[in-house]
Amino acid sequence: MLGRRTVDTGSCFVVESYDVVIVGAGFAGLVAARELSRRGRSTVVLEARDRIGGRTWTDERLGRRLEMGGTWVHWAQPHTWSEITRYGLAVEPSPTSESVHWIAGGEVHRGSSEEFDALIAPGMDRLAADSRHWFPQPYEPLRRPDLDRIDALSVADYFAGLDLAPAAREVITGVWAEHFNAPAAVSGLSQAMRWCAAASGDWRLLHEATSGCRLSAGTAALASAIATDTAADLRLGTRVVGVAQQDGGAVVTTADGNRITAKRVICTLPLNVLDTIDFQPALPAAKRSAATERTASQGLKTWIRVRGEIPPFTAYAPDTHPLTFARTEYTVDGDTVLVAFGTRAADLDPTDKAGVAQALRAWRDDLKVVDVAGHNWMTDEFSRETWPMQRPGQLTAYLAALQRPHGCVHFAGSDVANGWAGFIDGAIESGLTAAAQVTAAPRP
Ligand SMILES: Cc1cc2nc3c(=O)[nH]c(=O)nc-3n(C[C@H](O)[C@H](O)[C@H](O)COP(=O)(O)OP(=O)(O)OC[C@H]3O[C@@H](n4cnc5c(N)ncnc54)[C@H](O)[C@@H]3O)c2cc1C
Repeated sequence: MLGRRTVDTGSCFVVESYDVVIVGAGFAGLVAARELSRRGRSTVVLEARDRIGGRTWTDERLGRRLEMGGTWVHWAQPHTWSEITRYGLAVEPSPTSESVHWIAGGEVHRGSSEEFDALIAPGMDRLAADSRHWFPQPYEPLRRPDLDRIDALSVADYFAGLDLAPAAREVITGVWAEHFNAPAAVSGLSQAMRWCAAASGDWRLLHEATSGCRLSAGTAALASAIATDTAADLRLGTRVVGVAQQDGGAVVTTADGNRITAKRVICTLPLNVLDTIDFQPALPAAKRSAATERTASQGLKTWIRVRGEIPPFTAYAPDTHPLTFARTEYTVDGDTVLVAFGTRAADLDPTDKAGVAQALRAWRDDLKVVDVAGHNWMTDEFSRETWPMQRPGQLTAYLAALQRPHGCVHFAGSDVANGWAGFIDGAIESGLTAAAQVTAAPRP
């Protein structure tokens, strides 16, 4: 690798030198590594886990390949789609549901997708129209100077203030809790509007973009395509514990005591684990506060194998239920595999078969659960969050500060993206941005 030096210090620890150290091999880190190595920067990616992909993880479970984390992709997400085109990857649609089950007023209702959409349309239309007003340019989320007028509100506040039928309000609030993977009362209205604005103010497009289409070979195929398309070094099982800036560069210390010097560092850690690295000098107060406050997302994703082939359906519930969403996704050897989400991983473990089966019965007591599979991202020491979603007030309080470099340390990741923040697309966007910042920065 051009520009890389290894210095034998005579001790058991090795000191190496690169132009750029990237912390984390999720989509943000992998894309940044590809871009910088293509521009001739000696680059190493240090990844704590024993795999790449971060909060995307394609694994064999329940008799087939399943996504434990990020899954759906869409052509309305420009950075993701560009990567899919670049590597010639195939996509496939998720199945179309024949019916929707929703809970309102304590009762289960069943209807067509059109009937369900008609129920939520008044509130969704209003939110979508407001999103165009507050976020006229979705990739400039802080463009309007008066954003604080809406940023303090939660999704629950917003729908409570609209003139909606009680059932519509209850259902639509549950839909947004599902989008946030968090209770609606802690889900920031501005982030909901950013999602709608990124979908050009079309909430039906937003719903299609967030769950309509998946990579046929899994997200792992995309991560792997990017990882093999770079000259950067990649080290798995390498946890970074310290980043100390000195002499116009930085020394990155790993958990095994090795030190790597770099002119620039790109940190792609999820916000909720940013405080696990000792930065010297310390990060500015706004970055530290944001990490301490944490994102809104605190939920779960679980896969449920049920006996027999059942007609495709979707289900929604208010965020007082352990599961707020379920949908048929695959058939496996005569059984059906559902995907489901809930807003509180602390209350329902995604691998708890009895608990998940009990939650599923809120909609359907006719289904026999064979097995469940999932990953608890909230207790995972390298994420402690699912997809990043802001709480009320966090957009205006923190986003600009989180995006700002700290000396020679740059920040990337879906948590700090401008456009499709929270998605794979946001991670890729932020990796491109950080690579551009590093390229443009003066060399010491
Ligand atoms: C359950 C779930 C469902 C989702 N569904 C979708 C979806 O359908 N569509 C979509 O577009 N997005 C979805 N997302 C969101 C999407 O997966 C993420 O936004 C995106 O993958 C984040 O990428 P990233 O590179 O910003 O962060 P990450 O993928 O989290 O990458 C950060 C990396 O840093 C590593 N790391 C952490 N600490 C250290 C350390 N100290 N030293 C070294 N390395 C460290 C981590 O191991 C990780 O690999 C979902 C996420 C989850 C969890």
